[in-house]
Amino acid sequence: KKRVVIKIGSSTLTHSNGLPNYDMMEKLIRQIADLKNAGYEIIIVTSGAIGAGMAKLKLKQRPKTIPEKQACAAVGQGLLMHIYEKIFSEYGIIVGQILLTREDINNRIRFLNARNSIFSLLKNGIVPIINENDAVAVDEIKIGDNDTLSALVSILVEGDLLIILSDIEGLYNKNPLIYPDAELISTVESIDESIINIAGGAGSKLGTGGMATKIEAAKIALSSGISMIIAKGSNDRVLYRILKGENIGTIFLSS
Ligand code: ADP
Repeated sequence: KKRVVIKIGSSTLTHSNGLPNYDMMEKLIRQIADLKNAGYEIIIVTSGAIGAGMAKLKLKQRPKTIPEKQACAAVGQGLLMHIYEKIFSEYGIIVGQILLTREDINNRIRFLNARNSIFSLLKNGIVPIINENDAVAVDEIKIGDNDTLSALVSILVEGDLLIILSDIEGLYNKNPLIYPDAELISTVESIDESIINIAGGAGSKLGTGGMATKIEAAKIALSSGISMIIAKGSNDRVLYRILKGENIGTIFLSS
């Protein structure tokens, strides 16, 4: 069975004003439901809790202080899961929420506990939906961004492939928001200095990582022999096409 970790970024899950993008979520969940029927094991790493909380609490800006972020995440995480649960249930699929902090990765016992928990969901045909536990996380114990989290999760579950869905086609040779002539890089075989320099700073207003954390994630995944693909979540049938081997987005190939 092929085990695929799919990270869905805030910029894919929410509109630029922070409200949930139901159409996008429906399209992706429909594909995931189908892939599951086709025999894939799917693990979702989701962002968007703070975005969903912002919308509910009618905040115009991303909260800045830790307590505000925590409150926002506590409100938003439940809302986010509600949407996943609702859409997946239309396809008869049960989801299970797992919230992790860095301790769950760094501490061997907790690592094994988290792994057992995810494996137990998979064994029961449940789709694990994973996020960082932002309601209790403070900087010192944070993984910090879901790109890194998704790479760590793909190691945790011994995944075959990590797919990072974003609001951009893939990695460009320079930031396409600033340089209109930027070109998409379709394959990266090793992550050297030049690739790291390309990534630049943080990305969209709602996303937190930008390309830098995606490159970091690729490093982590590749170091464990897991290939990673960055692709645009809104592309038609994006997940089917990736898993059929179509060359879209940027693939970081593990040797
Ligand atoms: P997500 O919420 O999906 O994680 P981010 O906004 O954090 O999305 O990251 C994607 C953004 O990274 C793009 O929209 C783009 O503005 C920015 N970016 C910076 N440098 C690059 C690059 N070299 N190639 C592609 N995107 C880049």
